[in-house]
Amino acid sequence: MIRRIALPAGENIPVLGQGTWHMGEIREQREAEIGALRLGLELGMTLIDTAEMYAEGDTERLVGDAISGRRDEVFLISKVLPSHATHRGTIDACAASLRRLKTDRLDMYLLHWRGSVPLRQTVEAFVELKERGWIRHWGVSNFDVMDLDELRQIPSGSEVQTDQVLYNLARRGPEYNLLPWCREQDLPVMSYSPIEQGELLSHPAVRGVAERNDITPAQVALAWVLRQPLVCAIPKSGSAARVEENAGAAAIRLGPQDLTELDRAFPPPIKARPLETL
Ligand code: NDP
Repeated sequence: MIRRIALPAGENIPVLGQGTWHMGEIREQREAEIGALRLGLELGMTLIDTAEMYAEGDTERLVGDAISGRRDEVFLISKVLPSHATHRGTIDACAASLRRLKTDRLDMYLLHWRGSVPLRQTVEAFVELKERGWIRHWGVSNFDVMDLDELRQIPSGSEVQTDQVLYNLARRGPEYNLLPWCREQDLPVMSYSPIEQGELLSHPAVRGVAERNDITPAQVALAWVLRQPLVCAIPKSGSAARVEENAGAAAIRLGPQDLTELDRAFPPPIKARPLETL
């Protein structure tokens, strides 16, 4: 059973979900990727994160196939590109995502990152999409504290349900002010690239903690992210074996010695830094 955390709206989401960036890009890998996502659902990683940007829509098409017949089990997230995020553009982008995903609703719709369109327009569109029943919740991605503050000032801005950001052992900046700010507002943070796209797995400190606990480096990196309250992680894997490994991280609690060693190798921030993005 994967632990769950509550959105401000009251609904619970699993702390481990599945990313999909780069899925659907290579035809020969498509079946394996669909199989991996389906296995993830069986293992309780029922939150799936995708975006209109990924593989220019092909990732959403793949996700649509993967969840076919199982839509009700899934908490489905997609994202609108900032260049589409005008009022009209957001509605149209959502319609296109729904078509590619072969569904009538998204559980969460995120603004992928902040662009030049005034936030107010995007939020108005999100509100309209909710009224139409096309989306159930909305949130943002790559928003720093100042952006979230600004969002809260605009009408309906406080309906935001999550901020999806780059947060992992190698990217601890959010611990200084973003995570505390979100915790104070009961706003869950979604950690993307939680294993730094695989880069963390060969780090000696990560390997050391993994060996001592008889777990894998990916499980160390994921369990480390999940030690935070109100944080969930969305690792991506197109391999069934690695999906199973990642799901196993939900049950792992790192001990004080593990955390001390990881702090030594990846020191926590001592001053505010701008939010990093990929
Ligand atoms: P991740 O940190 O999830 O790493 C994914 C990479 O690690 C893949 O190459 C995968 O390969 C490999 N991998 C996964 N599990 C394991 C494992 N157990 N052992 C070894 N290798 C492993 O990076 P992502 O950038 O994909 O981030 C996760 C998700 O977050 C994305 O897929 C996307 O949905 C979202 N995202 C959102 C962004 C935003 O701006 N909002 C930006 C970036 C990501 P393989 O598939 O072969 O297993």
